[in-house]
Amino acid sequence: MSAERRRPLIAANWKMNLLKADAVEYCRDLRRGLAAAAGTGTMDARVVIFPSFPLIPIVARELVDSEVEVGGQDLHPEDRGANTGDVSGPQLVDAGCTWVLCGHSERRQNHGESDEWVGLKVAAAARHHQLTPLICVGETRDERKAGQTFTVLARQLGAALAGGPEPFALAYEPIWAIGTGETATPEIAQEAHRYLRGRLAEELGEAAAAAVPILYGGSVTPDNAPHLIVQPDLDGFLVGGASLDPQKFLAIIRSSG
Ligand code: PEP
Repeated sequence: MSAERRRPLIAANWKMNLLKADAVEYCRDLRRGLAAAAGTGTMDARVVIFPSFPLIPIVARELVDSEVEVGGQDLHPEDRGANTGDVSGPQLVDAGCTWVLCGHSERRQNHGESDEWVGLKVAAAARHHQLTPLICVGETRDERKAGQTFTVLARQLGAALAGGPEPFALAYEPIWAIGTGETATPEIAQEAHRYLRGRLAEELGEAAAAAVPILYGGSVTPDNAPHLIVQPDLDGFLVGGASLDPQKFLAIIRSSG
């Protein structure tokens, strides 16, 4: 599918890492690095940081008046109430978030989140117009070996979009590549991204599908990012491990243009 080049979107998923002082230092390094890259006039990527909940206000404060956005790593489908340990969409917005991850595989696998539950979270994010869901989908190694990759992606995507979110972004994160050091080849990633864009076109029409950022996630590094970003349906990255080092994250941003 041909489309004008979409603006690259590069996101850092810090997961359950870093303390307050680390976050402050990181944000300052990031701002310095982005300012230097902007000076060269070659950088037009949109950048989002997903810190753990206690760090969100600190990161939002440190990144104020910058173009870097902040997101939550999860949200509860309800806006308030008796849900101990959960965080709501309005609370994320109030803390300075404009993005939220929905359906990360570590939530699906370690917290038993079903496709339908992820769909409710996406719908909750969509209710808060300043909160854009970044919906994560991806197959396990066994599912890939069994030839079920597209079936899994179709099922996860269908449930996530049931509430008609707008806007949203997708992240293709093959579970066998997350935190394993084994990255999808550019060809494997492009095949999955093209499939996802085709499904989006069926659901939303070609023009809307062409506008949706589809990120790749799974052991992205400064070394493999340049080979992945040139794939036509790959619009950026959701970076876990390598995003914890601001210099590595900056290198990935710079290589994405
Ligand atoms: C992730 O958890 O979203 C991720 C892509 O992690 P990593 O880059 O460490 O594989």
